[in-house]
Amino acid sequence: MPEDLFERRRKHEDKHFYERDQELIGKLRAKAEAERRERERKHRKESHWMKCPKCGSDLEETPLGPVKVDKCTECGGIYLDSGELEILLAAEKRGSLLHRLFKRSDK
Ligand SMILES: [Zn+2]
Repeated sequence: MPEDLFERRRKHEDKHFYERDQELIGKLRAKAEAERRERERKHRKESHWMKCPKCGSDLEETPLGPVKVDKCTECGGIYLDSGELEILLAAEKRGSLLHRLFKRSDK
C-alpha cells in the first residue's frame, strides 16, 4: 500500500473515532446533566414539601368546601394546589365574598 494511501486511511479513521468519541461524550454529558437536574428537583421537593412558603412551618390539609387546602400550622396561611381555586370559585354562590374577590373582569 502506498504511503499516502495508508496515511489518508489513518487520518480518516482518526477523524471517525474522534467524531464518535465526541458524540459519546456529548451523550454522557447530557445524561449527567439530566441526572443532576433530577437530583436537584427531588431535593427541592423534599426540602419544601408541605412547608409554608412564608414561615417554613408545616402545612396540613384542611377541608374547605369541595377541596382540601394546605394550611400553615403556625401562621395560618392557606395555600391552594393547581386547579383548586377554580373549583372553589365554581362552588361558590355568585355574590359571595370569595367570588367578589377573585371574579374576572371579562363577565
Ligand atoms: Zn406559615
